[in-house]
Amino acid sequence: MSSTYCDDKGNIIDFYEILNVPYKAEKELIRSAFCNLIKIYHPDISGKDTEEDKKKVDLIIRGYKVLIDDALRQDYTKKLLSTRRYDSNGYFYLPKNRIKYSISLKDLVTTRLLSKKVSRTERIRKFGQDVEIFITPKESRQGAIAYIELPSRMTCHVCYGEDRYCNVCNGVGRIPTVSRLEIKIHPDTADGSYIDIDLMNVRPDRFTTFRMKNLRIRITVIGKSKPMH
Ligand SMILES: [Zn+2]
Repeated sequence: MSSTYCDDKGNIIDFYEILNVPYKAEKELIRSAFCNLIKIYHPDISGKDTEEDKKKVDLIIRGYKVLIDDALRQDYTKKLLSTRRYDSNGYFYLPKNRIKYSISLKDLVTTRLLSKKVSRTERIRKFGQDVEIFITPKESRQGAIAYIELPSRMTCHVCYGEDRYCNVCNGVGRIPTVSRLEIKIHPDTADGSYIDIDLMNVRPDRFTTFRMKNLRIRITVIGKSKPMH
């Protein structure tokens, strides 16, 4: 990757954060953010001449050069977003393979059919939870974000439940689908903690509802070191 984008350790720098501008910022905003920051940190203007300020000014100038050039900005932003592993609060984005669905729930998601044979109570009794999320000790200290997929129902946009003979929803008025739910695992979540979510109060969007009423998630911390307190 171009060294223009990276720090000494080879990690990509978030110039949007350095300049304190949103990803969609117009050039005008980037320009004024740059001018304001330079006024604060440039030794010739601030009167201070510290090593820290020099580094800061260097970053501000590098960031400005990248973000003000359309082609460079596009190339940089693509790279930044593809390498982003944590949000602005420092929470890690967990890869899909850290989420383990209970067997019947996995069936439910893949077949999109609600298996009446295995009730949720039965599932909880057998597996102890609907979903298990594995996090590292570092993630448990800093917090993590997981996206889990759950069966849901969407209002039929063809008949809105008004047509018994609708061939999109078979007259049911709703179409089975799968929706994503964001799970925030807050810092210092201990191994073996449960997160219970009332799905009656969470909707993927105003046309969609989750098929389950409750969701129980178990957090398992993998690795030997224990979270610090
Ligand atoms: Zn319909």
